[in-house]
Amino acid sequence: MAKQPMLKFVKVERAMPDKRDASARKEDFQEIYSEYAKAKAQEQSSRCSQCGVPYCQSHCPLHNNIPDWLRLTAEGRLKEAYEVSQATNTFPEICGRICPQDRLCEGNCVIEQSGHGTVTIGAVEKYITDRAWEEGWVEAIKPHVERPESVGIIGAGPGGLAAADVLRRQGIQVTVYDRYDRAGGLLTYGIPGFKLEKPIVMRRNEQLAAGGVTFRLNCTVGVDISFQEIRDTHDAVIIATGVYKTRDLQGPGSGAKGIVRAIDFLTASNRKSFGDAVPEFDSGELNASGKKIVVIGGGDTAMDCVRTAIRQGATSVKCLYRRDRSNMPGSQREVQNAEEEGVIFEWLTAPKGFKGDRVTGVIAERMRLGMPDATGRQSPEVIEGSDYFEEADIVIKALGFEPEDLPTLWDQPELGVTRWGTVKAEFTTGATDMPGVYAVGDIVRGASLVVWAIRDGRDCANAILEQMNGAAVIAAE
Ligand code: FAD
Ligand code: SF4
Ligand code: SF4
Repeated sequence: MAKQPMLKFVKVERAMPDKRDASARKEDFQEIYSEYAKAKAQEQSSRCSQCGVPYCQSHCPLHNNIPDWLRLTAEGRLKEAYEVSQATNTFPEICGRICPQDRLCEGNCVIEQSGHGTVTIGAVEKYITDRAWEEGWVEAIKPHVERPESVGIIGAGPGGLAAADVLRRQGIQVTVYDRYDRAGGLLTYGIPGFKLEKPIVMRRNEQLAAGGVTFRLNCTVGVDISFQEIRDTHDAVIIATGVYKTRDLQGPGSGAKGIVRAIDFLTASNRKSFGDAVPEFDSGELNASGKKIVVIGGGDTAMDCVRTAIRQGATSVKCLYRRDRSNMPGSQREVQNAEEEGVIFEWLTAPKGFKGDRVTGVIAERMRLGMPDATGRQSPEVIEGSDYFEEADIVIKALGFEPEDLPTLWDQPELGVTRWGTVKAEFTTGATDMPGVYAVGDIVRGASLVVWAIRDGRDCANAILEQMNGAAVIAAE
């Protein structure tokens, strides 16, 4: 009988790849986890119990065939594992690094629920595709036929790029427009290198360009080119512009100098890592070096800001969040990483006002959690008389993002939006109210996740292909 390579979770303990020591990792912007050695990846994959109904798969937004690629990895059949993994995910090595696995695939792994520690799905997914890149198995797209139809995609984030990949593989002419000088959206300029090193993103951009995707960078739609012109040029248009309007702070002094937006702070830091000239960083405006930093917010953006500030050499970094640790929206894994690196969390604390024309600190007040609201979440309430002063040279607002008003910016009143300002789109296809216009990713969902943007981009591209194929058949009849 063949040797059983799987079901080893009772004998083999869960082991993540080694994490670099906090004192070393806070000195640079390199990723904090190292790669598995081949034997370790095989061993960890072999812990999977090959569930008949794999909850990991149903809780992955891409419905990745996780049990299949774990088994292939355990058997040492890496190329096949890569083929299976990339069949459902455009950027598996990126998801393996930055998906909040504890809330998605791994959070639903049955062996975790039986007390054995989840299979390390994300780390194995990363391992498989990193090896595929090393071995040269990841190739530029080569469509079997070139087709005449073209699609214009506005936004080169994961949503737009995932759609571009699917369409180009079928020979569609694809042009991606982006206001930035590099493609990748928040993968390039939002998420810091210690979670996702930039060469990982750049090689994907190069792969798409080598496969015939045309990039028009430094091109802001609504300024350098009108939306109508893009619509007139292409058979279909996908809006994948993400959400970038920062939620603002309230209270006296909230307009003071030195109170900065998280996205500006993170973009400046990422640009520095590319070696770009960044005057606002060099002037100190967006540089935490030698300064006391206060970050306001409790989501993943706030976690990225505190950990970036530590790496820039801040003298102290504090994070103020109005709820407690168990009620924060950010990943617990990231909080732990931040604490290890020296960040101090002030839970149940909110800003009431700010001192100084150039900020010198935050007047903060303590909160307690009150009655649950309509969603069942406990609302924070102020504890009267609990004010105190938190010194700060830079305050970073990381309270979340909202969509820009695209119908006004692009002079397209008929583009329907929801009451939150996100573009109204049919969830399985991305179709909007305007014929031939689709929308995907954060601009539809509100601030969400990379893996959902990829899912939307892929679904939308398939819907466009179906529509185009139907039209081609009718034309031929
Ligand atoms: P984006 O990635 O925002 O890309 C939109 C693109 O559209 C940008 O390149 C922008 O320049 C371009 N654009 C916008 N307007 C125009 C215009 N008028 N003309 C031309 N181009 C335009 N998700 C995770 O899964 N894991 C994480 O760890 C994680 N960390 C995050 C950290 C931070 C700091 C932030 C802000 C977000 C994080 N997210 C994370 C969320 C994730 O990055 C987003 O959900 C995802 O990038 C959305 O993809 P998208 O393609 O919809 O938009
Ligand atoms: Fe898990 Fe994300 Fe990979 Fe899906 S894409 S298997 S959720 S890490
Ligand atoms: Fe394997 Fe866990 Fe998925 Fe079951 S839920 S198939 S044990 S990874």
